[in-house]
Amino acid sequence: MVAVNVGDQIVGLLDFDERVEMMNQIAIADLMTQEVLCMTPETSLEVVIQQMSNLGRSCVVIVDEKKPVGIITERDLVKILAQSLSIYPTRSFVAADFMTASPICIQHSAGLFEALVITRSCRIRHLPVIDDKDELVGILSQGDIAGAHFQAIEQQRQIIEEQREIIERQIQSRTSELTKANQELKALSLQDALMGIGNRRAMEVDVQYTHSNALRKKRPYCLVLLDVDYFKKYNDHYGHQAGDEALKHLARSTQESIRSTDRLYRYGGEELLLLLPETEIDAGKEVVERVLNALERAAIEHVESPFGYLTISAGISAITNFDGNDDGWQQYLQHADEKLYEAKSEGRNRICW
Ligand code: GH3
Ligand code: MG
Ligand code: MG
Repeated sequence: MVAVNVGDQIVGLLDFDERVEMMNQIAIADLMTQEVLCMTPETSLEVVIQQMSNLGRSCVVIVDEKKPVGIITERDLVKILAQSLSIYPTRSFVAADFMTASPICIQHSAGLFEALVITRSCRIRHLPVIDDKDELVGILSQGDIAGAHFQAIEQQRQIIEEQREIIERQIQSRTSELTKANQELKALSLQDALMGIGNRRAMEVDVQYTHSNALRKKRPYCLVLLDVDYFKKYNDHYGHQAGDEALKHLARSTQESIRSTDRLYRYGGEELLLLLPETEIDAGKEVVERVLNALERAAIEHVESPFGYLTISAGISAITNFDGNDDGWQQYLQHADEKLYEAKSEGRNRICW
């Protein structure tokens, strides 16, 4: 059984069948990706492979008059490669010619949450596992992580069930104990429900990981804090609901303006954090300028703002010097926050560094 929440109130408990029913109400249509790479059965193998490579896709669905008649996955391509190499051996190539250099790895002491954040944010499916000496000790696949994540949620559900039994015997503390168990369940979530981007908890794990990685490899990265301008006035004038819609638009628009390797999180309220790995200050400023320009083009009306449309201000901090002592990423975030304050006092709708 699982506790069901409405707001922070426990309103009931679900048995197994009801839980299955609840999961089935999440339609596949809402889960799927609509961008499918499709080709006809007559497409040459060369074109298939070129397109998969160019678009970074792991499979192609073969369609005949819009109906799926076959599928080619990366695994099929490995089979084809093995067959053709046995016919035409190519001894001149070595593994180093094909590998992705400096792969993203995870420490063996890291936890499931960190692995989940890294695979999602870096869009990778395999994580080599290294020990304290940076030596390989194993590999973690996305399937391993998804299984463990599900298991963790199941364990959490069992805890809730056990707690329910205890709590039923101690009626007085029932609500508070169940609420706590539910909050723990919520804490497993990585996403902000309103904006559909990573939440603050996921952000902290990602920034910590990126910072340690940058330190080890002596590679730069940038942290940017973004804050909506005159947002209290926006809410007061257009209503809280419209404010929520504006925040959703901001998240979408920002996500579309950044590169696929950049990561966007809700830092809190109407503040966002942009994490730009492998980025020097000038490139970081360009990314933020693109975000500001996209908002100018979107021109979301804000009559209470001197700009007439919804704008944001930004403070950026570039982490490029790894020679001194490391005081952690928090000091850089603090710097970005100071710069954000500067952008506000210099008139808003700008970036300071
Ligand atoms: P500034 O330009 O200096 O940033 O002014 P501001 O009005 O944006 O800043 P202030 O901190 O005074 O107000 C922030 C407002 O953002 C107040 C708060 O109600 C609103 N806000 C925070 N989170 C949400 C949310 O999830 N939805 C809505 N609609 N409003 C939110
Ligand atoms: Mg704010
Ligand atoms: Mg604000």
